[in-house]
Amino acid sequence: MGKIAITERVTGHTELIGLIAYPIRHSMSPTMHNEAFKKLGLDYVYVCFEVDNSTLEDTVKGLRAMKVRGWNVSMPNKGPITRYLDKLSPVSQIVGACNTVVNDNGVLTGTITDGTGAMQSLKEEGVDYVGGKMTVVGAGGAATAIIVQAALDGAKEITVFNRRDEFFPKAEKVVAQLNDRTDCKVTLYDLADHENLKRELDSSDIYIDGTSCGMKPLEDVVAIPDKSYLHKELIVMDTVYAPRETKLMRWAEEVGCHTFNGLGMMLYQGAAAFKLWTGKDMPVDYIKDILF
Ligand code: NAD
Repeated sequence: MGKIAITERVTGHTELIGLIAYPIRHSMSPTMHNEAFKKLGLDYVYVCFEVDNSTLEDTVKGLRAMKVRGWNVSMPNKGPITRYLDKLSPVSQIVGACNTVVNDNGVLTGTITDGTGAMQSLKEEGVDYVGGKMTVVGAGGAATAIIVQAALDGAKEITVFNRRDEFFPKAEKVVAQLNDRTDCKVTLYDLADHENLKRELDSSDIYIDGTSCGMKPLEDVVAIPDKSYLHKELIVMDTVYAPRETKLMRWAEEVGCHTFNGLGMMLYQGAAAFKLWTGKDMPVDYIKDILF
């Protein structure tokens, strides 16, 4: 957007929507939301703020005091921000994290749209996950949101694999809650358990990789040992979108799988947040032409 467009568009009436994260200057979200506001003639601007955990509480107080309509939250604030909000959506409560805040007259409600974004992306790829079996590798913020949403939306069985790192005990709690509260059978294994990994992938319809593998600095890393773990009928979604094609996706293509990256997830998590703030549907086809 050039200088003239900004002075024409931003007036005393314009409202602010933001993104608080660190690092964040690389984000595609400002382009996505500002182009959508402009296209629909909505009087908002979307701006990134470099905020980490050390300034998070003050930032939330400030945004509330300024009556800002809402904002996105990314790493490292997705978990910690939940303690500064008034309400959390059911999904956010189970995941223990939030990527979207809506300010309704001073009441701050947090939710997480990464899971619905991923499910919408699957649908758009023609993948029907209701009643199916899914293997999810990863149990961080994004993967957990996907697991919870898929279980709530009617996946029949989800097998989760993660390293025995700090995410593992959190995943144990989420898995227990999902088995209690939904009809989905959810099981968690150590990613190092290759025998179960092979068996579960062999019997799955969908494999979603929600680890940091495939993106910088892990571009050459794949969470599974090799491509013999994949089979031709498996649908393989990598949540990474930079780079557009990961090593896992190249393996999946070689095996003959239907495979796609996390761009669709990124678009639809943004569209869900946009709807919560503005009440309007994001013009997703228009935005795809700009971003993809
Ligand atoms: P996170 O830090 O919360 O989780 C990181 C996950 O990666 C954990 O499960 C961790 O165990 C795993 N991991 C890290 N290094 C690993 C390795 N060497 N081998 C195996 N597992 C490893 O991060 P996050 O926010 O959940 O992001 C995870 C991925 O999801 C990233 O690739 C990110 O690009 C992607 N993501 C995509 C979208 C989207 O809209 N497409 C949104 C959010 C996150």
